[in-house]
This record gives sequence, structure tokens and C-alpha cells, in this order.
Amino acid sequence: MMQTSVLKTVLQQWPPQYDKSYLPEDKEKYWYKEIETASKEELNDIILFKIKNVVHYAYEHSPFYQRKWNKIGLHPSDINSLKDFEQIPITTKAEVREDLEEHPPFGSNVCVPYTEVHRIHGTSGTTGKPTVFSFGKDDWERIAHQHARIMWSFGMRPSDLVFIASPLSLYIGSWGALIGAERLGAKTFPFGAGQTGQTEKAVSWLKEVKPTVFYGTPSYALYLAEKAKEQGVDPKAFGFRIMFFSGEPGAGVPSTKRKIEETFGAICIDSGTMAEATPWMSSTECEHRTGVHLWLDVVYTEVVDKDTKLRVPYGGEGVPVYTPLERTSQPVIRYWSGDLTTWTDEPCPCGRVYPRLPKGIYGRIDDMITVRGVNVYASMVENVIRRIEGLGEEFRLVVSRESVMDEVTIQCETLGSKANEELISQIGRELKRETGVTFKTELLPAGTLERTQFKAKRVVDQRDFRS
Ligand SMILES: [Zn+2]
Repeated sequence: MMQTSVLKTVLQQWPPQYDKSYLPEDKEKYWYKEIETASKEELNDIILFKIKNVVHYAYEHSPFYQRKWNKIGLHPSDINSLKDFEQIPITTKAEVREDLEEHPPFGSNVCVPYTEVHRIHGTSGTTGKPTVFSFGKDDWERIAHQHARIMWSFGMRPSDLVFIASPLSLYIGSWGALIGAERLGAKTFPFGAGQTGQTEKAVSWLKEVKPTVFYGTPSYALYLAEKAKEQGVDPKAFGFRIMFFSGEPGAGVPSTKRKIEETFGAICIDSGTMAEATPWMSSTECEHRTGVHLWLDVVYTEVVDKDTKLRVPYGGEGVPVYTPLERTSQPVIRYWSGDLTTWTDEPCPCGRVYPRLPKGIYGRIDDMITVRGVNVYASMVENVIRRIEGLGEEFRLVVSRESVMDEVTIQCETLGSKANEELISQIGRELKRETGVTFKTELLPAGTLERTQFKAKRVVDQRDFRS
């Protein structure tokens, strides 16, 4: 079915009303070629049109944003360019939590009447009080539509069967993947993860049902592969074509990406921003896997300086700040991620106009560890460990302070195929080169470290900073 100009539609109407039955032909590379291959100027026009609308909308409907902006005398009519938009203060998780405490249970940023709320979701709340989100039905459908569009870019088609191997509970990742795949017309198998014995069951189901697409976390995929091998099953026999991931950085770490691709014989796609910035798939790799594309007409993403909060030039390092551009039930304006990345606008072979994060998200400004004044990210260590032959998948970083000096120990598992002394010296050498820090190495027998069925916890900080 041919579309009338979608570019015109998104420049005239907000929130946009998309054709609910639209699907490109299977052989089409793009969902909306007009938008995805637009010029930078055209893309900026779309973004600015949507930004002005969402900012006005938030000001008129959200007590949370009214209070926040009135305090500093900001009015939406002040925002007439993308540069002006940088003047809007950041929204932080702490502020959202405080608002939830003051206006329980849903906060003062819900802009639709309670009767129109379609979905309640929450964060899994690993640290502190969980955050709650309200979605109206229109928003939910627009999220599904944008996720479908993005899944199309890494090669998913209606003939695929998607195996969702992440918890179908508070984790919004699973639901976003599910509704996107449904809107795309694919078959879905919401299998879940995290229950005792579920991974063994997954192995037998996968052998039988042969889904073509996998969704989960990278550490879970590697755990699944281990379990499969224990049962004498080669993970390649599952027959996945595409595996896409969110929830942790692994799929963007080069050696982990390679390991997943070699283990399963599928392409490994990095994806995802954060629950608060849903549609969270707005940062996702295309089939060429050159780093996540920022789908700026879906969620306007700025990489900003961690102190000034102003946009850094391409090539610079900073913190992604997210503004979903089509949400009306609970708008989010310039949401602080706390992640660390670098970005580029160099062209990708796919021809899309969207800039990219060539190294994905490689750290967090708040849980990066500083060892003897040097910043070390678990993802840097992961990149080293996963490329050394003879080591298992898991590792832990233990940071301690004996007297005044920080000591950092890497605990990893030997598979027994190489001499321990040889492994220890190779690990030490390569970690020093990658991070600039000297590590102690502790080799453990395979299977010693705890396996995760969800997100891995890799840093144990034993330093006591109170004394
Ligand atoms: Zn691309």
C-alpha cells in the first residue's frame, strides 16, 4: 500500500496520526523512506515542529512542567529553535521521584484523565523507590508503531517469530519489544525469563519451535548458550537470524557482539535508551551494526556536556538527554540519562540521516569506578575479557582500599585450555593497555561466579569512603 506523503503529515499535525494498517513491502529497506533518508535540514524541521508542540502541550497540561518552568520564567513561546531548546532545564530522576512522593501514586505529570489511562508500568527499581508511568492508548499505539519502524531497520519482517526472553513484569523492555513486533505483523513468543529452571526449558522450546529473532539481555543470551551446550545443543542449531538486546551495554561492546554472533550464528543488534524515554528503541542499530542510530524524529536525543548541559559537537563525549516527541499522556522533556557516550554524524551504509553512537553507551557517570584517579567502566573490562581465549563469559571487578591505595581485582573463570600463568599475564597486560590501570587477577574454576538471568552486576566496591 502506498502512503501519501508522511513527511507532510508529520509536519502538519501533532500528535501525528499514523495509518494503523500501513506496512512497507517486505523488500523495502525503509519503513518511511521520506523521513529516514531526509536531509539534515528536513529532519531538523520535523524535530523542531514536534518539539514546539510537545513543549506547549506539557506547559498546558502538566502541573509538573508548569511549576518547573514558571519558577524560572520560561514560556514555550520562547522556544523557536533547537538552540533555544537547550535552555530548557534538564529533568532528573530525583525530581520525578520527589514529585511521585508529593503527588502519589502517579505524580503530577500525567496529562490525561485517569479514565483514559491504558497502561501502568513501573521501573524494576533496583535502586531506591520505583518510578511509575501512565500511558494512554494513543501513546501506547504510537510507541508500538515507532518500535516496529525501528525493528524494520535491522531486518525484522512479518514472517519472523520473535522469542522474548526477558521478564514480562515491571521490565518495560519486554513489553516494548512485544508491541513493536506485533505492530510489525511478526509472530511473537513472550517466553519471559528469571524463573527457576526456565532457561533449561527455553533450550528445549527453542529446539522445537525455532524462532528467528531473539530479544533479551546480552548476558542472558550468553548464559542461555552455556546451558544449551551443557545439554549438548549447539546454540547455532536454534536458527536465530537476528538477536537484539537492551538493558545493559554488552551488545555494543565489540568483543561481546562478536562472541554472540559467533556463538549463535545471528546478527547482534544493540538497542535501547531507558524506560523513562519510551519509545525506548529510539537508539538502535540498523542491520549494518555501526553503533546505535538516534531516531531523532521519535525521541530527540542530545549528547550534552555533563556540567553545562549544552550539546557537545559530533566527536565529543557527553551524556545523552532524551525528549520523546510524540507522548501526550506523560511528556518527558530533556530527561537526564546519566550515561556516557560519544556521537558522530558520519554516514552509515544504510543511508539513514540519523546520527549514531559508534561505541554505544559505554559507561555511566554515577557508577563508573575511579581507581587511583582513573575512570574505569565495566564495559572496557568486558571488551578485554571476552576477547581472551580460554576465559569464561563472567567476570567481577572487586575494588578495595588496603591502606591508601585502591586495589582492583578482576575475578574471572578459566576454561582450563591455557596455563594459568599465561592467562594471568595476558589479562594483566591487556587490561592495563585498555584502561591504564594495573589489575590483580584471580582465576576461578569455570562456573564459580554467579550467573544472571537478567542484568549482570559486575562491580563490587568494597572501599569505605566514610573514614
Ligand atoms: Zn545505519
